Amino acid sequence: EQQLVPKHNVTIVDEEIVQAANETLTINRNLITALKNEEFTAFFQPIVNATSNQVIGFEALARWHHPDLGMISPGVFIPLAEKHKLIIELDELVLEKACAFLQTIQRYWSKKSQHRLTIHVNLSSPHFGASALINNLQRLIKLYQLSPGQLVLEVTESILLGADQETIERMHALKALGVQLALDDFGTGYSSFSSLCNFPLDIVKLDKSYMSEIETNEKAKTLVRSIINMAQELGMTTVAEGVETASQLRILNVWRVDEIQGFYHFKPMSAEQALNTFGENG
Ligand code: C2E
Ligand code: MG
Ligand code: MG
Ligand code: MG
Repeated sequence: EQQLVPKHNVTIVDEEIVQAANETLTINRNLITALKNEEFTAFFQPIVNATSNQVIGFEALARWHHPDLGMISPGVFIPLAEKHKLIIELDELVLEKACAFLQTIQRYWSKKSQHRLTIHVNLSSPHFGASALINNLQRLIKLYQLSPGQLVLEVTESILLGADQETIERMHALKALGVQLALDDFGTGYSSFSSLCNFPLDIVKLDKSYMSEIETNEKAKTLVRSIINMAQELGMTTVAEGVETASQLRILNVWRVDEIQGFYHFKPMSAEQALNTFGENG
């Protein structure tokens, strides 16, 4: 009998490729389900004035509360969300939660202080470039009755590296809304001092990787002190991230860093916990 069906010579199945494809599908589906099921939320880490120790604002940080796996850190799911093109959706969710949180906590805050709190939000590079960003920000500022200057958008240098005219225009368009721009994780990767001059930045955040070294490593000391001096002379606000000890804080105070964000003062907390700590009864 004649064989009409071709032999297996055409079914080249690479098990690894199949497995990778399946994993991709699973993660993708997980992320989509998680977004739908509202498993993502924002935590808030207080930022304090370095000299008065007063809370002056919060950074919103994405959290994934997985039903089986528990709390998954952004270090794990942000790269996945980027890979699977879900990062804008995730960023927008955190941005909206952050604005809603600020409106709520500001209400309580205003009863005891004139001070306007700020909310820092991380902007991925696709989100930074998204055409809907400006309109969305305008909508949120209005909806949650914020003053635009209360909103701080954190970008990393990867956005600025090889920045074209479009990037610079986008930054100026954001500035025109009245929001503040912060450069996150400064001092890592390909950080360059010229970034501080060439872009309309209000705030520079010193990367946490330096904090453990400012007491012991002379070169790290010089670098951090120079960044602080330069940012100050350019009229920018400096924030030290990852401050964990009193002695780190003392050094940063001598160097006149403006603001501190670190476990020494506060860890990131849920909105509920923040409201309990700083809100009505706080
Ligand atoms: P980041 O923007 O530099 O945020 C600061 C990170 O440092 C947070 O980690 C915070 O928990 C941690 N941190 C603060 N103080 C200390 C300290 O004293 N010691 C130590 N060891 N760590 C401290 P987290 O929440 O795990 O976030 C990691 C990164 O994920 C963020 O770094 C940011 O790049 C990214 N990320 C978080 N949320 C979002 C988001 O909504 N959108 C985007 N695009 N990225 C986000
Ligand atoms: Mg940040
Ligand atoms: Mg950072
Ligand atoms: Mg970062």
